[in-house]
Amino acid sequence: MEIVLLGTGSPLPDPHRAGPSTLLKVDQSEHVLVDAGRGCVMRMAAAGSVPSLLAGVLVTHLHSDHVTGLDDVITTHWIMSSDPTPLRIWGPVGIADFIHHTMAALESDISYRIAHHADLTWRPTVEVAEVAAGDRFQVGESSVAVHQTEHAPVEPSIGFRLEHGHYVVALAGDTVPCAGLDDLCADADAYVQSVIRDDLVRAVPNRRLHDIVDYHSSVAQAGQTAARNRVGRLVLTHMVPAPAPGGYDEWIAVAAANFDGEIVIGDDLTTVDLVER
Ligand SMILES: [Zn+2]
Ligand SMILES: [Zn+2]
Repeated sequence: MEIVLLGTGSPLPDPHRAGPSTLLKVDQSEHVLVDAGRGCVMRMAAAGSVPSLLAGVLVTHLHSDHVTGLDDVITTHWIMSSDPTPLRIWGPVGIADFIHHTMAALESDISYRIAHHADLTWRPTVEVAEVAAGDRFQVGESSVAVHQTEHAPVEPSIGFRLEHGHYVVALAGDTVPCAGLDDLCADADAYVQSVIRDDLVRAVPNRRLHDIVDYHSSVAQAGQTAARNRVGRLVLTHMVPAPAPGGYDEWIAVAAANFDGEIVIGDDLTTVDLVER
């Protein structure tokens, strides 16, 4: 199984980083998208994927940076389809409403394309499931468990623990350390965590930016969570502020002060190949 960091950016526009989005290539023909930030479909193409390969889309929470690419996923899944296969989306309470409104916004496009293409006789179909901590469901050949995360005032926010064969991947989204996060990533082969450098954010003279410190894991906290829960690899993404070119060593050093396992950080399309440990 491969983990591809499609988008390592944040709400702040960045010419080199797409919005938060991660692709799991469970195998060649079964991919799972976790969050759908700005530009995620373009990054999927770069990663050798297309929405029609998605067994499902998992959404951690409804902050705009994590869902702003969903309309593109829905439309591209539909126009590249050869039959009315539904796109399946799992997310927290509120995702059904979000998709309902997204479909309403796409209504003109849907009617134009059905009018224009003789062979496209179906509308896009999206099957949405709202899930909460304690739920477990199947995405393709993978089993997924839902865990509570802590991203107040964002409520609810959830993380996904995906198991396939021997592999366990913990997809945390935006959260501070909490009991649900510990359960989510216990003994996982890989733990993917949104992170901020609280020291750097506090040094920026912008009060609105300072607000993000209290609801994201710092790099040090991600390292502590990884160590406490014996994960195989810590994968850092959604970095704020975006590391400067050549700046990754400093981020790794902060995490490594708290965790002695493998630490992954990088540009968009950084790929982690899980091999059995
Ligand atoms: Zn968020
Ligand atoms: Zn975010």
